[in-house]
Amino acid sequence: MITKYLHFNEHDLSLAGELIRAGELIGFPTETVYGLGANALDEDAVKKTYAVKGRPADNPLIVHIYDKSQVYDIAADVNDYAKTVIEHVMPGPITIVLPKQGLIKGIVTAGLPSVAIRMPESTEARQFLRAAAVPVSAPSANLSGRPSPTTWQRVREDMDGRIAAVLCGAPCRVGIESTVLDLSRTEPIVLRPGAVSAEYLSELLGIHVGVLTDPTSKVNSPGIRYKHYAPKVPMVLELDDDRDKLSAYYDQKAAEGCNPVLWVQNPLRFGGRNAVGMGINAEAAAANLFETMRKLETQYDFIIASFCWRKNTLYDGPASQGVLDRLMRACGHNII
Ligand code: AMP
Ligand code: MG
Repeated sequence: MITKYLHFNEHDLSLAGELIRAGELIGFPTETVYGLGANALDEDAVKKTYAVKGRPADNPLIVHIYDKSQVYDIAADVNDYAKTVIEHVMPGPITIVLPKQGLIKGIVTAGLPSVAIRMPESTEARQFLRAAAVPVSAPSANLSGRPSPTTWQRVREDMDGRIAAVLCGAPCRVGIESTVLDLSRTEPIVLRPGAVSAEYLSELLGIHVGVLTDPTSKVNSPGIRYKHYAPKVPMVLELDDDRDKLSAYYDQKAAEGCNPVLWVQNPLRFGGRNAVGMGINAEAAAANLFETMRKLETQYDFIIASFCWRKNTLYDGPASQGVLDRLMRACGHNII
């Protein structure tokens, strides 16, 4: 199949809409990561999503909308917590999980009685969704297990020849996948940390919102179930920004004949060694996370990442839990 590369003009947007309604897959930008969109009401189209990505069938997709009213067509019970989130955080980098209506089939939700719904803030994403005129199911537009794409060029890398089209938009502002907030249980809980923090949601909803998986716990994290976001070369993670420890680890790897790289907050502290900046705060780290992973894996053969996210450090911010979660998964929980 020859993949079309489309732009944000009237002609290409209406073509993108036609392709979606004809059951084709389209890569499209959002503020979090690029998505791989299909008509959520077309079971055959949704089936292709799993095949093209090599995604396990028990990993559900998110249904994307362009108008808040669509929530009421898709979810069976929009409770008060959901109404508050819809009012204050949507559109934005958040996904809410609610009991589903019959319109959305089990293939989208991996057989679950609940459905995940997201309204992107990105105008490009919403232009596409409006042109599609149907709810669009989408996972991230990477091959399963690879770091999520945050530019259209990375979508091309993974999806060229496999899907009908890619909408070439801006690089993603947030850079990590949306916060997934489950509102289908008695108490709201974050299933996947993202740029909207559990702390913020606790304040907004007036109830403690926990995070299902403590990202530092090896046992609980779904990263054990599915290898996620992994670069092609081995990676370890250090959590204290301990210069001596990082330098010693690097020197050891170099002595073993590796060409390692330090991926740290301040590369200038590691003069003479390969070192790359992770970003000045958690939000900058999130924005560049997957793109840097994909760059480093082509230039080095061992990644030594450091992310110190304690209170009152530079990496203490709304996106810090999300960044930590992705780093933990990328290194396969290999903490040094
Ligand atoms: P992706 O954005 O590619 O990582 O895929 C969507 C993610 O959304 C899934 O891996 C789940 O973590 C989450 N998700 C989607 N639907 C549901 C659901 N019905 N219940 C719980 N989590 C969901
Ligand atoms: Mg994904």
